[in-house]
Amino acid sequence: MEYSYWEHKHWFEKQDIVIVGAGLTGTLSAIAIKKKFPNRKVAVIEAHPIPRGASTKNAGFACFATIGEILDDLSTTSENKVIETISLRYSGLSLLKELVPSVSMLYSGNGGCELFNTSHEYDKCIDKLDYVNSLIQEATGLSNCLSKVKIEDSGVGNRTSQLYKSAIFNNNEGSLNPVKLIKQLNHIAINLGVSFHYGLKVNSYNAENDKVYVDVNGMELICQELIFCTNAFAQDHFPQEDIKPARNIVLVSVPHDDVLQGNYHCEQGYIYFRNIENRLLIGGARNINLLAESTSKFGFNPEIESFLKEFAHSKLGLKNLQFPYKWSGIIATGQSKFPIIKKVENHVYTAVRMGGMGVAISSAVAQQVADLIEL
Ligand SMILES: Cc1cc2nc3c(=O)[nH]c(=O)nc-3n(C[C@H](O)[C@H](O)[C@H](O)COP(=O)(O)OP(=O)(O)OC[C@H]3O[C@@H](n4cnc5c(N)ncnc54)[C@H](O)[C@@H]3O)c2cc1C
Repeated sequence: MEYSYWEHKHWFEKQDIVIVGAGLTGTLSAIAIKKKFPNRKVAVIEAHPIPRGASTKNAGFACFATIGEILDDLSTTSENKVIETISLRYSGLSLLKELVPSVSMLYSGNGGCELFNTSHEYDKCIDKLDYVNSLIQEATGLSNCLSKVKIEDSGVGNRTSQLYKSAIFNNNEGSLNPVKLIKQLNHIAINLGVSFHYGLKVNSYNAENDKVYVDVNGMELICQELIFCTNAFAQDHFPQEDIKPARNIVLVSVPHDDVLQGNYHCEQGYIYFRNIENRLLIGGARNINLLAESTSKFGFNPEIESFLKEFAHSKLGLKNLQFPYKWSGIIATGQSKFPIIKKVENHVYTAVRMGGMGVAISSAVAQQVADLIEL
């Protein structure tokens, strides 16, 4: 494509810091960096007209600790790493709540509830409840964060005949509206002086001496520091990193008079559901076909879609519920649950691999990447 003199001069003028990706991590990193260097030029380059990864396609859970997932993690990871993971999520959520007023992101601190299919699964968790609460306390300072609840008091009501009769509740979690959140963050960033460029893809870069030459849609953009906040798509530029894309499917129902209220997880967090006003949002279940869902391609898996509908029908008692909205989003996973926040070479950084908890951790990750940058 040819660019005009004005476009060369003003759209592609030299920047101090360029961030690739306008999802939660990119936008929050731009805010943290602009606050650190208010007089420097900071630009965010996004390949699509609106962010297209996970940040506006997620389920909007603001969560940090579910016992099933923690016990699962403890079977493969050290206690210290598990505490660190919980701490990162909790501190990220605290930073986010400081930055964005609850009303602007429709945050509701209505808790999070873990449900179980069998008494065996539930009993395993109850046996370890005090121990897990002590780990959470070490990570967050919160005492007795998780507690037992009867299913009829959990918000699911009596319809859950096929779920176990008791659940475990985290009173300190909540939910939010991801698009309201990103719009608000965008507004904060623009007010600080960050510029956003949508529909421009970073193809490649070349770091030489004290500059980075970035190919943006065939046009050269020069900057001093380049930060990739491209999550699952970071594979394109950093194939050597342990970044495994994973697709997640979400369905949202028609309004229903008897829809459950609250935020729920099941099966180590693989299945999640909540209400959006009087609609049911249900998603996940990629564990039923992990191989097929290990992809960065958006799209649907009919097997998972049917499974989620059947779950709503048989486990939540919402028979014949119609789901007019469905979509997929791409998360980034790896052997470790920690994001990759590092300098990959002189003047080039990554803040990627946010797992299934990017809403929770992105503010803390943004702060960490801002701390790495020295001009
Ligand atoms: C269905 C689903 C449900 C989820 N639910 C939750 C939840 O309830 N709670 C929670 O905490 N987390 C949840 N997550 C995870 C969370 O949404 C992500 O971890 C988080 O949004 C990641 O943000 P990000 O900015 O790092 O990445 P992304 O949102 O993927 O943003 C990366 C951006 O980079 C852009 N990009 C990529 N390559 C280039 C390039 N070469 N040039 C320019 N731009 C580029 C992409 O277009 C994209 O907009 C969920 C994720 C999904 C998919």
